Amino acid sequence: MSNQNNSVIVIGAGMAGLSAAYDLHRAGWHVIVLEARSRVGGRVFSLRNFSNGLVAEGGGEFIDEHHTRMLAYAKEFKLSLGEVGSWQGQTEDWGAYEGKAGQQNDISVWGFDLGNEYEKMWAALAELAKHVPDPSHPETAPNAKELDKQSAADWIAQQNAHPLARKAFADHIRSEYTCEPEQFSLLDLARNAKLYYSDPDFHRSTYRVIGGNDQIPGAIASLLPDLRFNAEVTSIQNMADQVSVTYKQGDTFHTISSSFAVLAVPLTTARLIEFNPPLPVAHHSMVNEVSYGAVTKVLIEYRKRFWKDKAWNGRLATDQHIVQTWEATSHLQGEHGIITAYTGGAPGAKLSALSDEERIKFAVSVIEKVFPGSSDLIENTATVAWVNEPFTRGSYMALAPNQVTTHWQNLFAPMGRLFFAGEHATIYQGFMEGAAESGQRAARNIMESV
Ligand SMILES: Cc1cc2nc3c(=O)[nH]c(=O)nc-3n(C[C@H](O)[C@H](O)[C@H](O)COP(=O)(O)OP(=O)(O)OC[C@H]3O[C@@H](n4cnc5c(N)ncnc54)[C@H](O)[C@@H]3O)c2cc1C
Repeated sequence: MSNQNNSVIVIGAGMAGLSAAYDLHRAGWHVIVLEARSRVGGRVFSLRNFSNGLVAEGGGEFIDEHHTRMLAYAKEFKLSLGEVGSWQGQTEDWGAYEGKAGQQNDISVWGFDLGNEYEKMWAALAELAKHVPDPSHPETAPNAKELDKQSAADWIAQQNAHPLARKAFADHIRSEYTCEPEQFSLLDLARNAKLYYSDPDFHRSTYRVIGGNDQIPGAIASLLPDLRFNAEVTSIQNMADQVSVTYKQGDTFHTISSSFAVLAVPLTTARLIEFNPPLPVAHHSMVNEVSYGAVTKVLIEYRKRFWKDKAWNGRLATDQHIVQTWEATSHLQGEHGIITAYTGGAPGAKLSALSDEERIKFAVSVIEKVFPGSSDLIENTATVAWVNEPFTRGSYMALAPNQVTTHWQNLFAPMGRLFFAGEHATIYQGFMEGAAESGQRAARNIMESV
């Protein structure tokens, strides 16, 4: 691409990069997308190595009923959605803690109503939400610095709920934010609470795309004229009148130029790119310091949905180092079903260090312990450890104490002709929706700047 006026190089073909490229392309801009992998979608990664045509998500899975952009893409590309239901407590949620296992509200198992005690944590979270009036500007909250200094663990320790309910809530932090509660800023927990948990009685629905979420990035990519695979960007030269981007394809380096660029890669891989001139201090520290979590998924296909006979909905919260499970096929009818073990935080990092076989074996053994005989029903398995993926190197951003007040504004600020996008650069952080929002915003900002 020569240095033409309305040209953009988009780096990364995840939901963020593709959303930016799609809007720019439709507005008549000349767009080249550079993608390091041999596929699009990034952290949207549907797995198809199961029987009976079953598909399960190795990455981004649930589309919230408020996630209007993702829902709009599904509609535009005529993709059907399967309803998963609400994440809030359900009677058939199980717990396995301290050697006991059973439905969370079964007093005969726990000696008290664990489900009820857990509800107290959600009510407290709704109160916490009140500290952040504007979730798009947490840094302007009245006690922003004070809250940001503290961690989610500090807050959990102060709550008036049974210790086991506090433990279960720590596991919620590991699952949702994929970091240890000690490493998650209380200000960001309050910001997320404001966005999603202000009303403890409100039950949100979530969805999966039937046949795989990856059909959304796939459909967008099919409409883009110039998408280059196996193209790993190694350096970006940000000049007054253009941007030059160097990428490696096989053993060959190529340099191309455009009037703008969108950097839509995780900050964990942006760290490996050479910026010329170097990024200013605030951007440099944002790119290099912002924390990411760790997460693994183990997907286990069973020949029979044995959980239907056990009054178990597939959701198990446990201290047994797999942290959390759910049914990946809950939106589909059928004999076979898939359980996902979703492991974030320190347990996720630990499972990432195992081989795929060991990780699968471990997850299977935890489920077998709670539901003896279940492992005899296994048909197929799959696993992804996202910290081991060279073009992801983590799960998603999880802002550590003091990082919201230090970095929030820089996450959104362009650097000359270089615009940042990705799940880290949006208020809907950690979601496919956020990635899409950030890409659409970057495209809009570029178009408005000429
Ligand atoms: C296990 C897991 C579960 C999740 N569950 C949910 C969920 O239930 N609901 C939800 O909404 N979200 C979920 N998410 C989050 C969601 O998947 C992400 O927020 C979103 O997909 C991120 O999109 P992105 O475009 O910002 O980044 P990515 O999808 O990571 O895309 C970045 C792209 O850049 C490429 N790249 C990286 N470095 C370079 C380079 N140097 N040169 C060129 N290309 C490069 C990568 O290969 C990748 O394709 C989950 C994520 C994970 C990991």
